[in-house]
Amino acid sequence: MDTVQLTDIQFDSRGLVPAVVQEGRSGKVLMVAYMNAESLQKTVESGETWFYSRSRQELWHKGETSGHFQKVRDIFVDCDADTLLVVVDQIGAACHTGSKSCFFRRLDGWDGTYAGSLSMLSDLRDEIEEKKIHPTEKSYTAYLLQTGMDKICKKIGEESAEVIIAAKNADAGDGADLRLEVCKESADLLYHLSVLWEAAGVSVNDVMAVLEERSHVKGNKKTVGHLDKTF
Ligand code: AMP
Ligand code: ZN
Ligand code: ZN
Ligand code: ZN
Repeated sequence: MDTVQLTDIQFDSRGLVPAVVQEGRSGKVLMVAYMNAESLQKTVESGETWFYSRSRQELWHKGETSGHFQKVRDIFVDCDADTLLVVVDQIGAACHTGSKSCFFRRLDGWDGTYAGSLSMLSDLRDEIEEKKIHPTEKSYTAYLLQTGMDKICKKIGEESAEVIIAAKNADAGDGADLRLEVCKESADLLYHLSVLWEAAGVSVNDVMAVLEERSHVKGNKKTVGHLDKTF
């Protein structure tokens, strides 16, 4: 992958460049903030995000007061070098309101239905982890985790069989109902698989890392560089 020198970044008339911050493991867009050359340099040197606060007119180390630091995994530069995409591991919440992402509101009048696609597996992991730490009596997830791996594996077997049956039915017949069954049974399987991952001490992130390593899609390889560090 091509690299871009710091000297080629198109800072605006105030010396700032917007940085879109994305969580690596979920793909979620967490926040947008501004960097000047100094904060970008500090970000690269420290491996944690530094921004420039326009309201306070000072450098800002994200997490300094909240503890919600961002560990930088990658930095991309857009086509005309006037925007950065910073991929991070987020500790805690990115937003000062306590929300994971700053983008938790939808524009009024826009009747959207987007729910987060694959990043929902990451949300599900958080929910399952929460049930492990704070089990409640009514929680099926807590029940599965407490009963143990044998029970979880038995459920995986059942749900796999149900996916197979649904897929064969969909293959033999036609119609939205049969396809919906495939979706429902796959969701059951993914949920139970997520519980199994939790019980086995691995995360969806670890699974995705294995997929990523096998991926032949250009640009996915981890060996390619990010922002050139030679400035
Ligand atoms: P933190 O860097 O998380 O310790 O937060 C310090 C201060 O930075 C907060 O009081 C906010 O003023 C600001 N801040 C933190 N996170 C955000 C964010 N995602 N968007 C805008 N301002 C933020
Ligand atoms: Zn641009
Ligand atoms: Zn926010
Ligand atoms: Zn099922």
